[in-house]
Amino acid sequence: MQKLEMIYEGKAKKVYKTDDPKLYIVDYKDDATAFNGQKKGQIAGKGVVNNTMTNIVFKKIEERGVPTHLVEQLSERETLVKAVKIIPLEVIIRNVAAGSFSKRYGVPEGQPLAKTVLEFSYKNDDLGDPLINDDHILALELATPEELELVRKYAYTVNDVLKEFFLERGLKLIDFKIEFGIADGQVLLADEISPDTCRLWDVETNEKMDKDRFRRDLGNVEETYLEVFRRVQE
Ligand code: UDP
Repeated sequence: MQKLEMIYEGKAKKVYKTDDPKLYIVDYKDDATAFNGQKKGQIAGKGVVNNTMTNIVFKKIEERGVPTHLVEQLSERETLVKAVKIIPLEVIIRNVAAGSFSKRYGVPEGQPLAKTVLEFSYKNDDLGDPLINDDHILALELATPEELELVRKYAYTVNDVLKEFFLERGLKLIDFKIEFGIADGQVLLADEISPDTCRLWDVETNEKMDKDRFRRDLGNVEETYLEVFRRVQE
């Protein structure tokens, strides 16, 4: 499958057309950004880690009945995927308080939550990805009621799969962000699942094993991505 014209370049990935209008090729970069693009850098090897890790995890998720856009990995950095129209929502699941949740509600990072939290942000860089609720989503017609119900159901299943998968590898899943798309009327898990999009803490030491090392200048960024990569390949 050949890469044709590039149709999109995001912060961490490029997307190309192929000779099949129903298929795209995603190419993962080493570029890293944080705080809505205000902090920029590179994490050597990140593209390889995030591409391969996403595919390993997406296969596990498919096995548990959530359809994904994955077709096949083409190379270290490239994957063939179904062309989808992305639903402009960041679907966030939280198992433990951290990040913007801790800041917003004044609770310490690491505090367990009495209930798993599902929240949505409206994917819109100009607005700074604001928090949005189900009524807002329907009022703005960002998704239909049927799509929204599936997105919620799938997100909880993804959480179950990921929690178990990472725990077996010595990693606690604190929170994560996923995105969904629509292809031929079907809701599919799309985008990526990687240390860029999950908070993962070492079970033994509570050490942060994710993009917070880059966001917060904690050091050992490349080494941490490689260590997560080593564990997910086990
Ligand atoms: N996240 C992401 N992309 C975003 C915002 C958040 O992948 O644009 C992930 C982030 O890595 C974390 C989870 O979503 O695993 C929750 O992030 P939070 O809302 O706490 O925002 P942050 O503190 O990262 O700004």
